[in-house]
Amino acid sequence: MFHQSRRRLAYWFTLSMGSILILFAFTIYYLQLQDRIKTFDETLYTRTKRLAMKTEYRLQKGRWQIHTDNVSLQESDTPPLKIETKIAYVRWYDSQGNLEQFIGTAAPGQLTSSPGYQTLKADSDTTQKQLLRQLTIPLQQDKESIGYLQVAAYLNPIQESLTQLRLFLSVGVPLTLGLVGLFGWVLGGVAMQPTRHAYEQLQRFTADASHELRAPVAAILSNAQVGLLASVDDTVQQRRRLENIVSSTKSMSALINNLLFLARHQGRLNPQDLKEIDLVVLVQSLVDEYKILAQQLNLNFIAHLPPTPVKLKADSDLLTQALKNLLDNACKYTVSGDTVTLKVSTKLRRAFIEIEDNGIGIPAEDLPHIFERFYRVDTARSRQTGGFGLGLAIAQQIIEAHGGQITVESVLEKGTKFQICLSLF
Ligand code: ADP
Repeated sequence: MFHQSRRRLAYWFTLSMGSILILFAFTIYYLQLQDRIKTFDETLYTRTKRLAMKTEYRLQKGRWQIHTDNVSLQESDTPPLKIETKIAYVRWYDSQGNLEQFIGTAAPGQLTSSPGYQTLKADSDTTQKQLLRQLTIPLQQDKESIGYLQVAAYLNPIQESLTQLRLFLSVGVPLTLGLVGLFGWVLGGVAMQPTRHAYEQLQRFTADASHELRAPVAAILSNAQVGLLASVDDTVQQRRRLENIVSSTKSMSALINNLLFLARHQGRLNPQDLKEIDLVVLVQSLVDEYKILAQQLNLNFIAHLPPTPVKLKADSDLLTQALKNLLDNACKYTVSGDTVTLKVSTKLRRAFIEIEDNGIGIPAEDLPHIFERFYRVDTARSRQTGGFGLGLAIAQQIIEAHGGQITVESVLEKGTKFQICLSLF
């Protein structure tokens, strides 16, 4: 699925970039062609003007005679031109369009083209597709039309440079397209990464959730089938089976509640859902509750709370839930005689809540994963303590929904410290 999406992404990327590239190449070619023809025309015009000036016109017997003695096709005596080109022919016509004189290639007897520029095929060389640019200008003497001057030059310099440009584009465009395709493929892979990651997480989450639900469902089924249906007379055993069913159903219900919680509380909380609370009051009620639990578990419970109120905007139920998850863990992963410490402090418009224990600790390689859903350091150990591996994921989701951060430090066999940071009101 991801491979196909990646290929499609790369294909469309290459297609769109390729179209832009080809359009760009054609535009460059067209602009270059226009530019070179313009420069060539200017050169041709300059040369034609010079030839017109060098030609002598004498009125003899009422008719204008053309004298080309001073005319030469060599331009050594003139300043260099923008494009060096060879003149193919020069032709003089009278005012009726009859050929008077010519230099270079033989000419038709009559003027066939109107004044201006034309591009023609050079007749002499059909194999090489040589082209000529021809300019015809009217000649005037004392405001009287005396004929036409026609000059043609080989377009070779332009043809050669355009052939080079075509070659460059025909190699460069496919090469660039190949590179674009390669980039498209790599970028497609990079773009697919978060989607693939999210999909894998979702898949893992679904698999884990089903796995967790399967065990209690199987227990309920076996208790109902074996216990209730088979041993109809044994009321003691029946009671034990019923208790098992109740405990499995409770566990399943807790899991479903946790899953629902994670699914519902995504993203930041709405500001209207947040109330101004005193963190000290909220934590104090937890201290009272966990002092009793710690006593039952033979743990030392120490609380450090500031003497003044710590005001912040929060959903007190959710915040209580997050802190309870951390305190439950601290009590769960410690042994008799260990200490659990709960501390609240403020610094630079922030409130810090620390829950520390000197219990079993978390191995360094597990630390980056412990906020992941269903992640348990030691499945066997957690199963004993009844955890699904969702408590920390829920705590993190709640704290982040409040715009806060939760961090952990732990040393194996030494203890664990969770720190929550929230902005003050
Ligand atoms: P669980 O419900 O299994 O406790 P959590 O998400 O609350 O799941 O915790 C994830 C894992 O992190 C636990 O399985 C446990 O191994 C480890 N852990 C959490 N808190 C502590 C702690 N205070 N001390 C040692 N290990 C802890």
